[in-house]
Amino acid sequence: MGLKNPQWYRDSLRDGRRIYINGESIPDINENDWFKVAIKNGAEDYNYTDPATRPIRVYETEDGTEAHRIFKVPTSLDDLDKRIALTDITSGVTGVTAVLMALYNIKDDVAKVNGQYAENIERVYKYCRDNDLRADQCITDAKGDRSRHPKDQDDPDLYLRIVDRNADGIVVRGAKLHITSASLVHEQTVMPTKAMGPGEEQWSVSFSIPTNTPGIKIANRAYARPDLSPVDYPHSSHHNSPEGFVIFEDVLVPWDRVFLAGEYQLAGPLAQSLGLWERIGGLQAMVNGAKLMVGMAQVLTKYNGINKAGHIQEKIAEMVFHAEMLRMALEHSIRNYKTTPTGMVYPDPIAINVGKYYGASHYHKMVGLLHDMSGGLVVTMPLETDLENEELSKPLRKYLYTRDDHKVDDRVKMYNLIRDMTADAYGGWKLVTELSAGGGLAAQRIMTLRGYDFESAEKMAKKEAGIID
Ligand SMILES: Cc1cc2nc3c(=O)[nH]c(=O)nc-3n(C[C@H](O)[C@H](O)[C@H](O)COP(=O)(O)OP(=O)(O)OC[C@H]3O[C@@H](n4cnc5c(N)ncnc54)[C@H](O)[C@@H]3O)c2cc1C
Repeated sequence: MGLKNPQWYRDSLRDGRRIYINGESIPDINENDWFKVAIKNGAEDYNYTDPATRPIRVYETEDGTEAHRIFKVPTSLDDLDKRIALTDITSGVTGVTAVLMALYNIKDDVAKVNGQYAENIERVYKYCRDNDLRADQCITDAKGDRSRHPKDQDDPDLYLRIVDRNADGIVVRGAKLHITSASLVHEQTVMPTKAMGPGEEQWSVSFSIPTNTPGIKIANRAYARPDLSPVDYPHSSHHNSPEGFVIFEDVLVPWDRVFLAGEYQLAGPLAQSLGLWERIGGLQAMVNGAKLMVGMAQVLTKYNGINKAGHIQEKIAEMVFHAEMLRMALEHSIRNYKTTPTGMVYPDPIAINVGKYYGASHYHKMVGLLHDMSGGLVVTMPLETDLENEELSKPLRKYLYTRDDHKVDDRVKMYNLIRDMTADAYGGWKLVTELSAGGGLAAQRIMTLRGYDFESAEKMAKKEAGIID
């Protein structure tokens, strides 16, 4: 019980979980180079001794104990501000644990349908909170033919489903894809990917079980090779958390870990409980990323002596508009928070969805502007090994020189950052992730249309046209 420490986290991952990467089974992920960066960052979230971050990382629970703030259900503006500050100092491993807070908050709605499920949610939430555990968000199913419902697929397992029920629990089969930090957390927390209807009871399923439960296998994919030079890859050599393809092969889920097993009317509320919190994290990352991109463009165009050119000023202005629109959407969403009947405060969903949509749909254009301003060295800058080579170092530096008020090495560093962030393996991952993570553009369109005040817009239009209802 209580707050743990970084070494405890590392040791806790040696629990017999079945993890694979690059075609190999990994008996202890602590010993595998592909996971080193992610484990280091995940372990850092267990550092409660730093006086600078402790007040953000720790809160006092309603039971009077100390816990990681990721479990705190926000009930005030101050809580929301702290949650935003927490995201800035938290790794993906801990960030995804917000799923338990989101579930805990809808337990009263769940109780109206099945009191036992609500009790299970509360117990699992408190167990994880009080033991400082981490959980992932296993939501996205394989989905097969997208035009068909789960019940109409050729293979019924394409959406995770209940294949058996017995006195001990339910038996589930299926897969959850693209799961952030799946191999690095203690609990696989499973929710339906979408609302379900009559006839879809077996796919209406939610639960949380330990990662080492028999029948769970996780295949990992990471964008950053373990041997990346921090000089050539200033970002991705320090930030990398493999996504997991989580396979459930007839896994027994004990009844006390089940949050939903057949009551299809709860699938929608469970699926949606997390969406907003996911998108807030996504929007926050976009706000930081857009500002960073403006900074990269400013610095590099100065190094190259083009910062005052008219077309560069226009492009940088477009990047600033983008960055400021995102920042304002996030700030507006926080200041105009809403409150649920249970007292949880949450950012204005319209602002979050509009901001996330705007950021995702303009991201590729912003990357294009940055590349246009930067030129071919984004992808052809010599690597550290060549720049350090005795025979090459001098001529390479000679021709990478621009002017005497900028160091060649600084220019190399800025190009490396731009390539790493936007044009190499991480950059490619990011192009896809900006569009898909937290739900694709269609999800934000649906949520925005659902929440927008069309009534007053229509009233306004009718009044202006002189139409009397
Ligand atoms: C890096 C990364 C991390 C992620 N982390 C997580 C995570 O931790 N947990 C998690 O659960 N998920 C996670 N996701 C998954 C993410 O939520 C999904 O990628 C996203 O919801 C899109 O689903 P999909 O990938 O299956 O694409 P698809 O659903 O196949 O979408 C592709 C296109 O098909 C369209 N489409 C889909 N269905 C239909 C239809 N019926 N009719 C018409 N058009 C349709 C979509 O609108 C879209 O344009 C992550 C994704 C990425 C890239």
